[in-house]
Amino acid sequence: MGSQKFSDAVYVGSFDPPTLGHLDIIRRGAQLFQKLTVGIGVNPDKQALFTPEERVKLVKEMTADLPNVAVECFEGLSVNFAESCGASVLLRGVRTVSDIELEFTMALTNRTLAPDQETVFLMASEKYSHISSTLIRQIARMGQGSTAAKLDKFVPTCVTGPLLDRVRGDGSSSIG
Ligand code: ADP
Repeated sequence: MGSQKFSDAVYVGSFDPPTLGHLDIIRRGAQLFQKLTVGIGVNPDKQALFTPEERVKLVKEMTADLPNVAVECFEGLSVNFAESCGASVLLRGVRTVSDIELEFTMALTNRTLAPDQETVFLMASEKYSHISSTLIRQIARMGQGSTAAKLDKFVPTCVTGPLLDRVRGDGSSSIG
């Protein structure tokens, strides 16, 4: 790809925990857009494994080599977050046909709310299309011994330790 890049974009999600699938979308997005802001959505109704601040720290660590990537947490609607970042693109990753159904509804809703913003989809890489945060939380909670050691096939190395600490209940001081 040449040096010309599209305007700024945001990539929002829960990232609880961030995965290799997310990292792949972030890396590819950073190639396409001048600036990519990863937005970690704060949902007070959802019981999360990591606090938003912890997730910001993990995503910052795994994207430390990408100078045009910023990481923030936000409350409220993605379109408002994009606007506050001065971004005109909402970047999303799609893994499966069922992802597309939900993403389609969301993209149309967001277009109604903010007609000047475009949703751009990147197809998941075949290597990572089976990876979801939900699946990883299950493996981390239930996996033992060598299964737990295989977590690094799903999440960046800097996430494995804090993830295992957290599910084993001794993770309060593992990030920070
Ligand atoms: P949410 O909890 O809102 O579904 P996620 O953090 O799971 O958010 O995902 C954020 C975005 O990343 C979504 O567009 C989702 O489709 C995409 N995504 C999640 N996992 C992968 C993956 N393995 N490969 C590509 N895209 C992914």
